[in-house]
Amino acid sequence: MPAKAKTPAKRVARKTPAKKTGAKKIVAKKRATPLAEYNAKRDFTLTKEPAGKVPRTKTKALHFVIQKHAASHLHFDFRLELDGVMKSWAVPKGPSLDPSVRRLAMEVEDHPISYNTFEGTIPQGEYGGGTVMLWDRGTYEAEDDGGVEALREGYERGDLKFVLKGKRLSGSWVLVRMKRPGRPQWLLIKHDDQAADRKRDITAEITTSVASKRSMEQIASGRRVWRNTA
Ligand code: MN
Repeated sequence: MPAKAKTPAKRVARKTPAKKTGAKKIVAKKRATPLAEYNAKRDFTLTKEPAGKVPRTKTKALHFVIQKHAASHLHFDFRLELDGVMKSWAVPKGPSLDPSVRRLAMEVEDHPISYNTFEGTIPQGEYGGGTVMLWDRGTYEAEDDGGVEALREGYERGDLKFVLKGKRLSGSWVLVRMKRPGRPQWLLIKHDDQAADRKRDITAEITTSVASKRSMEQIASGRRVWRNTA
C-alpha cells in the first residue's frame, strides 16, 4: 500500500514547520523585546534586582522558583522557566497542596532567569519594594514527557500542566487561564497525586528561605547583601 504510507509522512513533514512558525509569531506579537516591561519598571541604580537579559546558552533542565514577597501586599511569586525567561505569576495566598483549592495567580511581566537567585530587599518606593525570600526552587517539566513544546502550547492555550521537583513542592500541578479582560488571571491547582495533601497548610508551615533558612524578618534586617554572580 504505497499510497497510504505516503499520507502520514506528508502530514508530519507539514506539521513541524507550521508549528514552529506559529510559536515565533506569537512571541513576536506579544513583546518586541524580551523582558522590556521588566526593565522599564525598575531603576537598576536603586534596586539590587538583576537587569533583565536573556541568556544565549540554553540549559536542558527547566527551573522554577517561588519567591515569598512582602510588598504592599504579601504574595508568592511563582516563576516557570520557558524560552529564556521566567514566566511569572503573583499568587496572593501562595500554593496549596489541596486539590480542591484553586489559588488565584495573576500573570505579571516575564522575569530574567538570573532573578532565580534573588533574595533580599527591594528599596521602599521602588517597584515591588519590600522583602523577597526564596521559598522554593527546583526543576520542572511538562506532564507526560511532553517536552518544551507541550509547555509552550499549554501556556498559549491557558492550560499549563507541569510536574514540579522542588525542595518543598513536588508532583503534578496545573495553571488554568480564566477568560477575563485585562492582564491574564489564572488559577493554580494541585493535581491529586502522592504529593497532594488536604491537611497540610504548607505556606503557614514553611516560613523560612529554601536558600538561606532565614525568616522574612531576618532577611529584612540582614546585613548580607545579595550580589549578582552571573
Ligand atoms: Mn512580587
